[in-house]
Order: sequence, then C-alpha cells, then structure tokens
Amino acid sequence: MVGEQEMAPPKGEPILELKDVRVSFHTYAGEVRALNGINLTLYKGEVIGLVGESGCGKSVTAATIVGLLPENGEVKSGQIIFEGVDLLKKSKKEIRNLRSTKIAMVFQDPMTFLNPVLTIGEQLREVFTIDKKRLAQAALDYDLRRLKEEERDARDEAQSAKIRARIAELEGLRGNPPLPKRRRRRHVLDSLAAEALKKMRIPDAERIITEFPHELSGGMRQRVMIAMAIARDPDLLIADEITTALDVTIQAQILELLKILREEFNSTIMIITHDLGVVADLCDRVAVMYAGDVVEFSDARGLYQKPLHPYTQGLLRAVPRLTERPTMLESIPGSVPDLIYPPPACRFNPRCPYAWDLCRQKKPELLEVEKGHYTACHLYTEGSKRPSPS
Ligand code: SF4
Repeated sequence: MVGEQEMAPPKGEPILELKDVRVSFHTYAGEVRALNGINLTLYKGEVIGLVGESGCGKSVTAATIVGLLPENGEVKSGQIIFEGVDLLKKSKKEIRNLRSTKIAMVFQDPMTFLNPVLTIGEQLREVFTIDKKRLAQAALDYDLRRLKEEERDARDEAQSAKIRARIAELEGLRGNPPLPKRRRRRHVLDSLAAEALKKMRIPDAERIITEFPHELSGGMRQRVMIAMAIARDPDLLIADEITTALDVTIQAQILELLKILREEFNSTIMIITHDLGVVADLCDRVAVMYAGDVVEFSDARGLYQKPLHPYTQGLLRAVPRLTERPTMLESIPGSVPDLIYPPPACRFNPRCPYAWDLCRQKKPELLEVEKGHYTACHLYTEGSKRPSPS
C-alpha cells in the first residue's frame, strides 16, 4: 500500500508521524515544491537517519516539524502528528513552547546559534531558567545533596540529628518544591549547567561554563550545543548535519555522543545528513530522500546490504569502501532537479539508468517490497514491466 501505509513498527509507540506532508516556497521565480507528500513514522527510542544530496528536502522536513520554515515557506497539506497531536494545527506560540521543552534541534554551525557575548554558563543558565518547575526541583536536589554532605561531616550526634530533621523537611517538599531565592539561584543554575556538560562527557565542565564560545574548539562548541539541546530532556532530538563542518576525529567523537544519548538516555533521535557513513553505524532505520520524496525507507542493515531504489544504489556506489581495491568512484549523472519545474511523475527519471515511459507518466508509490523495506520505484510495482532494452 502506498502513501499512507504504516511502516512495520520496530519497537514502542510512534512518537512522530508525517502524513502526506507537502511544502512549497514562494519565490520570484515561481513555486518551489520542496516536499512532495512525504510519509514517515518515528518510534520512541529509535534513531532514524534522513539522507540524500543537498536540496533533497531533508532540512525542510526538519524545519517543518519544528515550525521554523522561513516566511516564504508554506505547508500546503498533510499532518505532523507528535505524541498524538497534529503540530500543523498548533499556534506559533504553542510550537515555540514545544521547541523549548519536548523537541530540540541541533544545527550544523554552532557559532550561528551560540551567543558570542555570553559565556557558555550564562547561555545554559538561560535554558534552565525558562523551566521554573525543573529549576525548583534542581534547587531542592542541590540543597539535599549539600545537607547530606554536611551530615557526613557533622561534629556530634546533636548536629547530625538537626541536619536529618532538615533533610526530612525538604524531602516533604518534593511534590511541589518552591522556587529558590534569587541569590541562591545562581549556584543552582551553575550546578545544573555543569551537570549538563558532564553528561556530554565534557571534561573540566566547571571551567567551560566560564568561557565564551570563541574560546572553544568546533567540536567542543558542538558538544555544548547538544548539551543545551538535551538539557531539558526533550522527547525528540533532531540533529541537522551536525558533523558536516568537523574533521573526522571530532566527527567520530560527536557520533559517539549520540550513541551515548541513545544507549544511556534512550533518546529518540532524527539525524539529518548527506553522509551515508554517518548513519550506517548509528541508525535503526534510514529514509532516503530525493527531490522532496522519500524514495526508500528500511532498517539500516537492509538498506546497505540490499538497496532497492536506483538512487540509493547510486549513492552507495559513490561511497569509498576500505575492503575493496581503490578504483574510480562512481557518481550519479546529472544533478538534483529544479523544483519549480520538477520532472514529471518519478522525479528521479532524468538521472535513472532504468527509466522508461511509465516513469514519466505515473508517480511510483512507496511500497513494502520486503518486510519493513519500502521503496518508491516502478521496477517493483506489481504489474508494471520495464521493456527489455533493444
Ligand atoms: Fe528509475 Fe523509473 Fe524507478 Fe524512477 S520509477 S527510479 S525512473 S525505474
């Protein structure tokens, strides 16, 4: 079944469903049809990769989910169901709230998003200040930790009993802790900021919170961005080309961090990248996009071992392999089409070595060709037969 069909659930509940989402940009040159009715389902705790060349719609998909399309962008139709609610029916204010609590996004260039005149600590403190409930809870935990340390060092039983009574009193506030007084808030916020950096395996976190973004390396800035993004335990993290500007060693470290998020915190993550190598090791499932369509969607192993769509096959032939003799890498002929005048029916047809008349007449639907492995290509459409080459 096409379009609206469900992917075989790998595990858990769906957290995010994109149903037939169409997005256009209005430009002086005409309407750019950037998303051509895409369908995707993301399950709690899974890591999904969105791959494809630049201009295929990956980042537009992410921007649509988090309500960050530019002024000239328009969602023409579809639904984006996040935790059972259609985000496209939410007001801008509600989406903004969601972005600061449940959905977090990390971008390619941290310098664009970090404020150059504020220290890392000041920026992290802002993140925590917005969430008053969490701040109150953190202040309570901070006080309890301190009291327990004092109790360990108490000089006699009388003092120890006094501290235990205070601990019991504070424990009683757990359900509804009060906001800390202004002068104590700073300590609490600093401890929260350092804790968030330590989660991201940032050494010497207490020093880093006193530094400005320009004093950190590119990799460290990206770690800080991830720490800020997950500081409030979002339900979904979207990472848009976060390793693109980094050298390979730092890339590996950032990917390692994402693995930690996945394994230790069971985070749900959408990774957007043009680099198939990035998703190979990390993702449960991978969606391949081309010119605004999802053309293949499968578990990562299936996609790499047996790519079905001619575009995915072309992408994988362009990846160097360490296990093979070095040869000239293949590339996919042509370039991504102009989406003001997209090619008819299958948008890949001008570049596809198998294209025939049907491909220019009818858009192929996303079909389950093998269990959990979907592709949109007439080569796999029942009843459509490619003429033998003459
Ligand atoms: Fe190629 Fe036709 Fe399949 Fe499109 S539908 S990928 S043009 S064979």
